Amino acid sequence: MSFRQRAASALNDASLQEALTIATTKFIELRREAFDGFPQGERLRDRARQIKEATLQQLDHYVERLVDNVERLGGHAHYAVTAEEARDIVLEIAKRGGARMAVKTKSMATEEIELNEALTRAGITPVETDLGEYIIQLAHEKPSHIIAPAIHKTKGQVAQLFARELKREVAADAEVLTRIARAELRDKFLRAEVGITGANFAVADTGTVVLVTNEGNGRMVTSLPRVHIAVMGVEKVVPSMTDLMIFLAILAKSATGQKLSVYTTLVQGPRRPGELEGPDEFHLVLLDNGRITQLAGPLREALSCLRCGACLNVCPVYRQIGGHAYGYTYPGPIGILLTAMLHGQESVKELAHASSLCGACADACPVRIDIPRMLIELRQGGVESKTAPWAERVVFKTLGRLLTRPALYRLSARLARLFQRPFVRDGVIRRLPLFFGHWTRTRDLPPVAAPTFSERWAELERES
Ligand code: SF4
Repeated sequence: MSFRQRAASALNDASLQEALTIATTKFIELRREAFDGFPQGERLRDRARQIKEATLQQLDHYVERLVDNVERLGGHAHYAVTAEEARDIVLEIAKRGGARMAVKTKSMATEEIELNEALTRAGITPVETDLGEYIIQLAHEKPSHIIAPAIHKTKGQVAQLFARELKREVAADAEVLTRIARAELRDKFLRAEVGITGANFAVADTGTVVLVTNEGNGRMVTSLPRVHIAVMGVEKVVPSMTDLMIFLAILAKSATGQKLSVYTTLVQGPRRPGELEGPDEFHLVLLDNGRITQLAGPLREALSCLRCGACLNVCPVYRQIGGHAYGYTYPGPIGILLTAMLHGQESVKELAHASSLCGACADACPVRIDIPRMLIELRQGGVESKTAPWAERVVFKTLGRLLTRPALYRLSARLARLFQRPFVRDGVIRRLPLFFGHWTRTRDLPPVAAPTFSERWAELERES
C-alpha cells in the first residue's frame, strides 16, 4: 500500500483513533505539567543541545574514548557500518554463547536492523520483555511509537490478543494484563542465554552504557543472562557523567512527563570478581548505518535526537494516522528524517509531505531539533530531483510564477473568482475537480475573496 492508502485506512480505523487520542493527549498533558514545574528546563534544553552539537563535532574522539573504556572494564566493542554487519556481529556472539533464546529490552536500534527476524532465522528465539514490545510481538506487528510501541492498541484489543495467543480468558484491565505478561516472562529471563538491549546513552569518560526504562525488565536482561549485548546508534555517545545528568533531567519529562524514569540502569562491563550479579560477557555494538555520512549531510541535526517521542505526540499528522501508516521503523516527524537518513531521500518523497509544518515538533523537542526546516529541505530535494509527482511539480511551478509576478497574480485572482463560482457553497469550497480534489478531500477551502486585499488596498488609496 502507498502512504496515502495506509493513512486513509488509519483514518477509518475507529479503535486506532480512540487509542491515539487517549495516549497522545495524556503524554502532551504530562509533558506540559513536568516542564511547568521545572523552571530550569528551558536552560537545560539549550545546554543539552550545545552538548550534542559539541559531541558531534568530535564524535570520532568520543567514540574512541568510549571504546577504550568499555574494553578497559572487560567488555568488547564492535563497530558495524551497516545493519547487516550489526546483525552478523550479534548473531556471531549469540551463537558462540550457544544461545537458543534471547531476552530483549525495547530498542529502536534493534528494530532498525531487523534483529528479531535474523535471530529467528538463526534458530534463536527472541523474546521482547518490555510490555508494549511483548504485546506487539504477540500480535506479529511492528512498534507504532518510539517509546510506546503498542500505543495503537486499546486495553480491550490487548485483552483479546492475550486471550487468543495465551489461550485463556483475560479481563481488559491494565493491572491484570501486566500481571499476566510478568508471569509469562519471568521464566524466560531465567532461561535465556543472551540479553539484548539498546542504549539511551553511553558515557565516553567512563565506558558506561545507560538504559532508561520503566518496568525493571532492563535490569533483568542486563544481569540474568550469561551474555549481554547492547546495540547503540553511534551518535548516542555523551562525553561525561555530568553531561549525562543534563540529558536525564529532560528526557523522561519530554517522553512521559516523569521527573526521572523508574529505572536508570548504568552498565559498566561484565561482572567483575566479587560481584554477585551481571553477565560473564558484555558487548557493545556501535551502529553507523548512514549516521556518519550525515555528520556532513543535510540531516545532521537529526543526529541529536534522544528518541523521547515528544515530537510524535504533538504532531497533528501522527496523532491522526499513528505510526504504522509511515511504513518504516521510525514514525512521526523525526521518523521521516531518520528514514531519509537510513533509506535515502527517495524513500520519503511522500512522507516529507506528512507534516503541517506547524512547528509543534520543534517546540516539544528537548534538544530543539528544527524538524520543519529539514522537512522543507527534503521537499525541496524532491522537487529538484523531480521525485515529486508531475502534477504537484506543475502546480507549484505555476504558483511560483504567479506569486512572483504581481500583474499575473492580480489577473489570476480575477479569473479564479470566475471559475470558482460553480464550486462555492455557503461561502466555502467543499469539492474541486481533477487532481485539485486532493486538497478538498479532507478540508474545505476559502474562496478567493471579492475584492481581494490588494484590490481593497488600491481602492483605499484611490479614496484617500
Ligand atoms: S526529535 Fe526531539 S522530540 Fe522527537 S524524538 Fe527526537 S529528541 Fe524527542
